[in-house]
Amino acid sequence: MDRRISEWMPGLVRRTIRFVLPMHCSICDSSLTDDPTPHFCTDCWRTIGLMPSSRCSRCDRPFPSAIATAYSPNHMCQSCLIRPPSYTRAWTLYPYTSPLRDAIRLFKYRGTVSLASALGALMIKQLPLLDRVDVIIPVPLHAERLRQREFNQSLLLADQIGRALGIAVSYTNLLRTTSSPPQTSLTKQRRLRNLRGAFALQCPDEIRHKRVLLIDDVFTTGTTVNECAKSLRRAGSSDVLVLTLGRTLDHDLIPDHVRVPHRHPFEPFGV
Ligand SMILES: [Zn+2]
Ligand SMILES: [Zn+2]
Repeated sequence: MDRRISEWMPGLVRRTIRFVLPMHCSICDSSLTDDPTPHFCTDCWRTIGLMPSSRCSRCDRPFPSAIATAYSPNHMCQSCLIRPPSYTRAWTLYPYTSPLRDAIRLFKYRGTVSLASALGALMIKQLPLLDRVDVIIPVPLHAERLRQREFNQSLLLADQIGRALGIAVSYTNLLRTTSSPPQTSLTKQRRLRNLRGAFALQCPDEIRHKRVLLIDDVFTTGTTVNECAKSLRRAGSSDVLVLTLGRTLDHDLIPDHVRVPHRHPFEPFGV
């Protein structure tokens, strides 16, 4: 097939499908035509904003004022100073606000896996400079949850990052051994109680002295990634880095440019 035709085809197929089965943007309800992201118009998708610039050099939590890191770029938040996490560094790429929040909920809870590549592309666009990573590991789901959901959203994201960086993805080594109810509205203490000892390595030798990049979709309190990092470090990993697509933020810390008015198309879900 002529190269120009093959490049043009996906857009044509998309427009034809949307002509037959009209779809609307999940945020503003406008008709979707050749918008590349399923369920979102290009204008709404473009409103996904970046995190505030001044953040903890360990857990990436934004500081209320940019002055916090103006004079000391490696400034850490109080929580990391008092109780340093088991990972060396976390990057949380975008505020978990609409429309990203809607997209992640559709992806994760409604099985809209067609959003995986758009969400993976967002992560790849903001990848930090990573010195050396030996292996990428997605945060695992418990087998029971995996059976219900039929896919691990973090693995779909990790797979794209692995391809972009040319780094192997390991998805059977780190296991979630206990099932706990959704963490949705639990306090940090309750989350910690639920997750303590919930992760284990099937083959610790595979990650011994290895630098691991742990991938998850949303960073809420950081308990999940920290418990994973703890298991990895105990099993002999030399270093654990964390990368998540979204981060929940206190209302006051959400940058003005990402506070867009929107209608809520879905029932409230947990994170
Ligand atoms: Zn829209
Ligand atoms: Zn911190």
